[in-house]
Amino acid sequence: SAADKLEYVKSKIGKHIDFPKKGIVFRDIFGALTDPDACVYLRDLLLQHIRAAHPDVELIVGLDSRGFLFNLLLATELGVGCAPIRKKGKLAGEVISVEYQLEYGTDTFEIQRAAIKPGQKVLLVDDLLATGGSLRAATELVRKVGGVVLESLVVIELEELQGRKKLDCNVHSLIQY
Ligand code: AMP
Repeated sequence: SAADKLEYVKSKIGKHIDFPKKGIVFRDIFGALTDPDACVYLRDLLLQHIRAAHPDVELIVGLDSRGFLFNLLLATELGVGCAPIRKKGKLAGEVISVEYQLEYGTDTFEIQRAAIKPGQKVLLVDDLLATGGSLRAATELVRKVGGVVLESLVVIELEELQGRKKLDCNVHSLIQY
């Protein structure tokens, strides 16, 4: 069942205390991806959700860099295209940028203008929602190039950080801590 698959995937997600620095509990999706059953279950769970909630999706947009593990996979299964949002300076051609806050300082995300057609229905995907800063910037970017954000979809949500409050789009997570 879906509940069994979810439990199995959750059991394989790694936990690293004080990484990348003291006080952070790092939830490691790669712990699940080395397990062949967890890979298939994770794919099934994400697809099941998208097919039920967003059958009208037209483009999957993955966030640099662990979002890329899912965007091509989901796009090919759904019969739609995919595109990346990357850190500044990595994407060729005409790009649109949004600056966002980190704990210390700022960072910049970019998307290629040509990636999204006006009015196209977009699903954002990343491995994990923490403070919500990344997905908030990603939402802004998609809208700047004329896309419609159906949802931000993540595998893991760190609920105590209340990242979803920062987002003015639908948010869905498979696993919560
Ligand atoms: P945020 O913008 O704060 O929501 O951070 C989300 C991004 O940072 C995601 O791309 C995650 O991969 C990464 N991240 C933040 N906190 C963690 C954590 N505790 N464990 C694993 N990844 C994290």
